[in-house]
Amino acid sequence: MPPAGLILLLRLVLNFMQKITIKDKTFSINIPSDKIQNRIGELAKQINSDYKDKIPVFICVLSGSFLFAADLIKKLSIDCEVSFIRVSSYSGTQSTGVVKSVVGISTELKDRHVVILEDIVDTGDTAVYLFEEIKKHAPADVRFASLLLKPKALRHDVKVDYLGFEVPNDFLVGYGLDYDGLGRNYADIYKLSE
Ligand code: 5GP
Ligand code: MG
Repeated sequence: MPPAGLILLLRLVLNFMQKITIKDKTFSINIPSDKIQNRIGELAKQINSDYKDKIPVFICVLSGSFLFAADLIKKLSIDCEVSFIRVSSYSGTQSTGVVKSVVGISTELKDRHVVILEDIVDTGDTAVYLFEEIKKHAPADVRFASLLLKPKALRHDVKVDYLGFEVPNDFLVGYGLDYDGLGRNYADIYKLSE
């Protein structure tokens, strides 16, 4: 076990290189925090205008979307409600292809204007599953917001009404996204280094 001083020095060097290590993997910076916040500001402006005479229900898809949802909702000036659903499909750095609801929706969605808030659309399996689940509640309409989209991984015809950024087909962490449960706390988004 290296001494604490060495670990601190290593952390400082990695920080300077804008790299982080989580467990066995190294990640380099991909989208800095100020860029994320600016883009979320633009999305909020659009949503404020689109829903100005409505009271939408935002559904934060746990766990990955919690920071995106919090930052977006803080920037909204319209009346709105917030609800949560928890789904899971990823194991390690790979999608398992099987999406399951771990915690379902508790809010009444009938005749409501629903906006799903996702962290990232990868294959699109989760998005398709979410649309199907929410439509069972007979909402007035459903729109989809996602901070990130990997167009090259997409296997379904998913319409993202409010999109933050298109990203390449890399494994990302930070700003809510985890690697084996860790890394959600970073304000920036990082990608797996080769
Ligand atoms: P999909 O069902 O579209 O394949 O994947 C959607 C979910 O998988 C996302 O909501 C997210 O939780 C997880 N996911 C997809 N790509 C990544 C990634 O690059 N990093 C992390 N940490 N999670 C991802
Ligand atoms: Mg997600």
